[in-house]
Amino acid sequence: MEFSFLMPTRVIFGKHCIANNNIEFGKHGQRAFIVTGKTSALKSGALDDVINALSGSSISYLVYNGVLPNPSVENVREAARLARDFNADMIIGIGGGSPMDAAKAVAVLATQDLDDESLFKGSYIIKPLPVIAIPTTSGTGSEVTPYSILTDAKDETKKNLSHESLYPKIAFLDSSYTAMLPYEITVNTAIDAFSHAIESCLSKRANSMSIMISLDALKLMGPCLFDLCSDKMVSSDNREVLLYASMLAGIAISQTGTTVVHAMGYSLTYFKKVDHGKANGLLICEYLRYVSPQNSHKIEQILKALNMRNIDELESVIDNLLIKPETLSDKEIDMFSQKAVLAKSVANTFPVPMINDIKSLYRASLGSGRNTIDNNVV
Ligand code: NAP
Ligand code: ZN
Repeated sequence: MEFSFLMPTRVIFGKHCIANNNIEFGKHGQRAFIVTGKTSALKSGALDDVINALSGSSISYLVYNGVLPNPSVENVREAARLARDFNADMIIGIGGGSPMDAAKAVAVLATQDLDDESLFKGSYIIKPLPVIAIPTTSGTGSEVTPYSILTDAKDETKKNLSHESLYPKIAFLDSSYTAMLPYEITVNTAIDAFSHAIESCLSKRANSMSIMISLDALKLMGPCLFDLCSDKMVSSDNREVLLYASMLAGIAISQTGTTVVHAMGYSLTYFKKVDHGKANGLLICEYLRYVSPQNSHKIEQILKALNMRNIDELESVIDNLLIKPETLSDKEIDMFSQKAVLAKSVANTFPVPMINDIKSLYRASLGSGRNTIDNNVV
């Protein structure tokens, strides 16, 4: 056996974890630039908790609440200019994946001028500022990953910026921040985490530790998915389990990356405005069918962890949770496939799909007259 496993983020989990650990902030800086979306950081109570903790430690701060869902390169450049003007020495991201990812890109751009190519390549001359991440959704796991996913309008897609220095220094996870999350966002983000756990487990880069973590995440998520199907009121116990499981799934993808599912989902988000997690959910079952001949043992382990009999049962649960969007035209399938095949994460898929396989996956998942894809297309 041979592998390497890096997880440098200090995870502080539990109700009131910020108030109970407020001294942690001062270990990373004295001028905090806080990056959030429009309202959720405030509405969730997380922003007030952070401000109280900073004030108690006499740390100066400035709040930027302009991050949009699926943040663009321009969006993070604007925030980084303000962070520089403020002389920030640490960045705090509060919100879903969008503000947390934006915080990481701001941490890079606050210390150096980079063109888009160098930004995405990860060729950083100066160390990015330290990042502290506080999730208010239970999905992306961004609080424990070195990734920042940004929308690149020039190439009409989403791109992954990845660098070891972007692992947050601390992740504060308090499930009470997710209490007011609407049902639809709860479902979509839970399915994102679910997809991370599955993709990581099946990734070419998976190792025994990452597999153990992704299977544990799935074991916890299975009952929650069934509960979400039958009851739109999400219990606080399930909210805590979902937050923990999404963090585990984040640790798993931090080691292995995602796969063709995420690569294909980006066009659904960019062109069809489908939520990130939902986009993965619409593709995951056909992906499982595609990889199952070469991964039969792992598929068995996944289904056992979920306590489901087969992929058909899983599909009926996912169908129950997601409202299908319109179908894709042949022209869209061609264009989306050409973009997906260029994404870095495709190489993590086993077996690695060719462009025709990706077309088949789109067609089977979302084409007009959906039908099961041919497993022999590899
Ligand atoms: P999001 O885009 O961060 O937020 C979606 C919506 O949910 C926003 O309108 C947000 O409001 C709202 N919201 C967030 N927390 C809430 C709360 N507690 N109560 C009520 N509303 C709340 O959604 P996300 O699914 O968490 O993140 C998706 C992004 O993460 C995508 O860009 C995706 O590519 C990326 N991602 C990153 C990683 C990674 O490892 N870095 C992994 C997977 C996905 P506000 O706008 O007011 O905040
Ligand atoms: Zn994701």
